[in-house]
Amino acid sequence: MHEMSLAEGVLQIVEDAARASGDDAFLRVKTVFIEIGQLSSVEPDSMRFCFDAVTRGTLAEGAKLEVIEVPGEGLCFNCNKTVPLAALYDPCPACGGYPVQPTGGTEMRVKELEVE
Ligand SMILES: [Zn+2]
Repeated sequence: MHEMSLAEGVLQIVEDAARASGDDAFLRVKTVFIEIGQLSSVEPDSMRFCFDAVTRGTLAEGAKLEVIEVPGEGLCFNCNKTVPLAALYDPCPACGGYPVQPTGGTEMRVKELEVE
């Protein structure tokens, strides 16, 4: 389950942000907003589960993981259009051609932290 190492990466970002802020107000992380691309092969549900597991005993314990799903997008080399892409290696939905180079929705990243 590669979501576990991804969740650890998210926690790392949260802890770094807390340290960098040097702010006493940064006591507790309430919500972590992450973007998960449709083509990133990250499962939002297992991401939530792993995040709960790795944040136990940290300043992010009890924080809610808010997942923003980003739709996949690709550039078709056949018709040269930017098209919605539901899965990697899918044919172009516009012309049925190959290959479609993924241009969006391929990443998972931390978007925002809500603290109190
Ligand atoms: Zn096409």
